[in-house]
Amino acid sequence: MANLFFIGTSSGKTSATRNHSSIFIFTSNYNLLIDAGDGISKAFLLHGIDFNLIDGILLSHFHPDHYTGLASLIVQMKMYGRKKVLSIYINSCLEKAIKKFITNSYLFPDKLGFGINYHSFQNNVQIRVSDGINFLPRENSHLASVSESKKNSGLCFSSSSFLFDIGNKKIFYTSDIGFEKDLNLFDDYLPDYFISEITHVEAENVINKLKDFSNSPQIIFSHYSDEDIVDIENFISNLIQDVKSRVLLAKDGLKINL
Ligand SMILES: [Zn+2]
Repeated sequence: MANLFFIGTSSGKTSATRNHSSIFIFTSNYNLLIDAGDGISKAFLLHGIDFNLIDGILLSHFHPDHYTGLASLIVQMKMYGRKKVLSIYINSCLEKAIKKFITNSYLFPDKLGFGINYHSFQNNVQIRVSDGINFLPRENSHLASVSESKKNSGLCFSSSSFLFDIGNKKIFYTSDIGFEKDLNLFDDYLPDYFISEITHVEAENVINKLKDFSNSPQIIFSHYSDEDIVDIENFISNLIQDVKSRVLLAKDGLKINL
């Protein structure tokens, strides 16, 4: 048994009522949190989820709505008596920066009472998280427009999309992308679930992807701003019935049983 729990569905724009984009994958032997942006600790409290249910955290990229809540989340884990090791899955070029972020937040393993294991990944190399969870990361164009001078600054600009293999289900999760072409990143797979952000890409373009799949994936829209909700709901309600039945607008607290 496994499920996806949408901790938050908001874009990078802070909402008074919704949390930034984050998904918690629950399986029988491992629980993986995808992204830990600003306010993630409060989001866990609002949903009534124990911080220490988290076994590992996977970060897609370094925009604040995806990672800056990590330090605070680690503090909560300590306060709630965590003993088990925390795993952090991070692109290899961001590993140094995330370690610095944690130590610069004065979070040291000998004071925390639990260890942190960093698992760095490289694009196009599948990572086995546990018996029931694997993921394949691929670079998307979310940060491609960064200027050359910034790229030469020594910072790593990497943003990943993921294909998860959970049990016998395949899930394409775009996280933040840059352009429509990123929707094709995993065209060599047939996803059961296609979870797309719709802030940097048109919902219509995501719907157009359906014709590329011989199966009937469930499309889930996430990562959208409050002011776009009415337009998105209107867009979905105007879809033809056959397509509409395969499209879901994720709301905070949505649970999908896989
Ligand atoms: Zn971003």
